[in-house]
Amino acid sequence: MDILLKNITLIDGTGNPPINDAILRIRDGKIVYAGPASDSSDRNEHLLLDLQGQFVLPGLIDTHVHLSGSGEADSQFRAEDGVMALKILSNAQKNLAAGITTVRDLGGWNELEFVVRDWVKRGEFAGPRMCLAGRFISITESGADYYEGMYRVADGINEIRRAVREQVKHGADLIKIGVTGAVLVENGVPGATHFNQDEIEALVQEAEKFGRRVAAHAHGADGILKAIQAGASTIEHGTFLYKDPTAIQLMAERGIFLVPTLKVGWDIMLAKDSNIPEWILEKNKATQGEAELSLKMAYEAGVPIAMGSDVGTPLNYHGRNGLEIYWMHRAGMSAMDAIHSATGNAARALGWDSWMGTLEAGKVADLIVLDANPLDDLRILADKNHLQFVMKDGMIAASHGSQNLAAELFAERHLSI
Ligand SMILES: [Zn+2]
Repeated sequence: MDILLKNITLIDGTGNPPINDAILRIRDGKIVYAGPASDSSDRNEHLLLDLQGQFVLPGLIDTHVHLSGSGEADSQFRAEDGVMALKILSNAQKNLAAGITTVRDLGGWNELEFVVRDWVKRGEFAGPRMCLAGRFISITESGADYYEGMYRVADGINEIRRAVREQVKHGADLIKIGVTGAVLVENGVPGATHFNQDEIEALVQEAEKFGRRVAAHAHGADGILKAIQAGASTIEHGTFLYKDPTAIQLMAERGIFLVPTLKVGWDIMLAKDSNIPEWILEKNKATQGEAELSLKMAYEAGVPIAMGSDVGTPLNYHGRNGLEIYWMHRAGMSAMDAIHSATGNAARALGWDSWMGTLEAGKVADLIVLDANPLDDLRILADKNHLQFVMKDGMIAASHGSQNLAAELFAERHLSI
């Protein structure tokens, strides 16, 4: 039997304006129609849910998370393997419950995230769709000791090729490389380039052999340019991108995504009386304004933007990811473009846009229902008081609404938990 959501305000994730008095029809977990009520002539038997004008959006896609981190103040994710597997599962479920139906993890722990992804895929646990990078491939540096289960140190072309093959063997959906230093590594210099051009090129080539995209962690302008020239698909952070207009131009021309991760910096800056170490506070203060300027310039130059909250980092908790959309808007993006960066455009960054990311016929029915208009205040996207229910594959994955609008649907079909 179909599910028919009627009397909805549809924000379909394509970047197009909302459609009032719309309907959305779901069959076998996929959307068969989404649009104006008057255009649908389908008379199939259905379970009808009148949403009384509430707002329906695609399930949000966060393209930069760390399921192995829970917002520890010192950014130390470490846990014994059994505990870590549960931690990853628990964090994954917090995303789903908050309406983040898809996450891209850019640094897991001891390959445990692959087990969690596969068990969720098999239907053993509820969880979001997971696009996983496995380990963060890095040069020899101190971060590798601090993030022991997350890093894969590789120096030189042969070792890099081997590191990529290992991630693919373990089940990686993409490859993550640390092209420059990091903010959240004590002695890390964010602006410093780590890998040489030939090493980055070898990594991208090796990933391409297996049909995998490359996400490049890059703060410094030189590292960003090297990653662009080597063929990375997404630039993570991009803090000092504003210094190099040529790099911005190339990203726009080649459709390389910027994932600005502004929430990390805001959570650290707005923290009061926390145990965040001084070295994190200082480095963060120095870079936040530049990260926002880089986003603004890239956005205005037509660089595609994908939402990535970097949840897992200090006080950046799973389930609050939607605030990144608000911060991106505050830095210069229009409200609708910021939503687009967490839906249709994020799906493009993953290469999954042919089957998910927007509310259009043929796509999977991953969606959220809100009782208020997120275009009026994007913080609504991170507020469970406004989130009525979450659907993944046409099944209720979480229900928060006081009116319990989803109760009937839930009885009918829901993910086993
Ligand atoms: Zn990260």
